[in-house]
Amino acid sequence: MNTYAIALGSNLGDSQIILESALSRLDTVIARSSWYQTKAVTLPNHPPQPDYLNGCAILETELEPLELLANFQQIEAEFGRIRHQKWDARTLDLDILLLDDVIFQTEMLEIPHPRMSDRAFVLVPLVEIAPDWIHPGQNLSIKELVQSVDISGIRKL
Ligand code: ATP
Ligand code: CA
Ligand code: CA
Repeated sequence: MNTYAIALGSNLGDSQIILESALSRLDTVIARSSWYQTKAVTLPNHPPQPDYLNGCAILETELEPLELLANFQQIEAEFGRIRHQKWDARTLDLDILLLDDVIFQTEMLEIPHPRMSDRAFVLVPLVEIAPDWIHPGQNLSIKELVQSVDISGIRKL
């Protein structure tokens, strides 16, 4: 059995309904965070975007990493996600953050998620449900990692 930490995000459409229904489409969810309203990160010189709703969950599943990624991409498509440009507004984004104490690196998929440690919108929900999970690349717990990010701009719903 594999235990994954995942991140959910949405800033188009009725985000809360989308995130709740996406969660109900996933394999055994053993924990879930609150939802947080967060400021969108955009590329330099790009117009501002609506705030995001973000949250995290812990899943238990027999799916291997690339199978879970394919499953996520199918669910994103079902919720009408259209891929335009990197970091564009989207109805649903599902990212894999952590898998047990595994480091998994391929061109299509990197676990731990390479940008998770810099992201308050990931670490703040994640610390609610996995404070003592050790990030295997950095050998720091989520509780420790969240102390080094700026959490202004993150508001619990
Ligand atoms: P970011 O990865 O910075 O959060 P994003 O979520 O907007 O950006 P996407 O367009 O959703 O990026 O995904 C781009 C590609 O990232 C996907 O096609 C997938 O192959 C790859 N990818 C690599 N590592 C992961 C991961 N841990 N979880 C999800 N996708 C990943
Ligand atoms: Ca993402
Ligand atoms: Ca993604």
